[in-house]
Amino acid sequence: MRKKVIAGNWKMNKIATEANEFVDEVAAKVPEDKQVEAIVCAPFPFLAAIVDKTKNTNLKVAAQTMHYEESGAFTGEVSPTMLEDLGVSHVVLGHSERREYYNETDETVNKKTHAAFNHHLVPIVCVGETLEQREANETMDHVENQVTKALKGLSNQQVADTIIAYEPIWAIGTGKTATSDEANEVCAHIRQVIGKITSPETAEKVVIQYGGSVKPANIEELLAQSDIDGALVGGASLKSDSFLQLVEAGT
Ligand code: PGA
Repeated sequence: MRKKVIAGNWKMNKIATEANEFVDEVAAKVPEDKQVEAIVCAPFPFLAAIVDKTKNTNLKVAAQTMHYEESGAFTGEVSPTMLEDLGVSHVVLGHSERREYYNETDETVNKKTHAAFNHHLVPIVCVGETLEQREANETMDHVENQVTKALKGLSNQQVADTIIAYEPIWAIGTGKTATSDEANEVCAHIRQVIGKITSPETAEKVVIQYGGSVKPANIEELLAQSDIDGALVGGASLKSDSFLQLVEAGT
């Protein structure tokens, strides 16, 4: 059975005192359960302190993006080497906001996915369609294309260790969630695509999250679906009590 992975994506929110307060309230309460993993995806300035505070707890720490090069003249960027050195465990790659505002492409997502594995970071690779694509019935082809390009050149073991987050762009921060059936249909398709490019056994191991207006009131129904193995949550992950309820739903 695949574990459930609940990740809270803070995006560009909180200041250091708020970040620390959240982690103080949450870290010790994340249950020790091999079947559920809780991750906080925090802005860069807070990562070192959060990694320190979460030592000996079950709360994992992710960055929200990174560069694919190990070092160099890339002003303002953060390398996989830096994240590995800090003790970060996961990294979100190809979030639709990064694709829309910061020129993230399928090619850079692929380079970053390789870089993540080279630095012992688990990539959380985000894919998902726009409203226009959904209305034009292009959802399945679009996510197939994104997933195939993101995973290009990885070994089957690496693919098995990758987390995919299916996030329909029209459902992010809008309060509009895909119905659990709609979400599951696309997650099942993603698993099929992964089965084609690796092997059905590999595809069975891949954790596929849903993201887009997930909250305590709808997470249970989403997690009850056959191919949804967790959630990548923005807005509803910002408050500690709400985040803990989301984690609880995964247990
Ligand atoms: P949301 O964001 O939960 O606020 O819709 C999800 C995401 O962008 O990861």
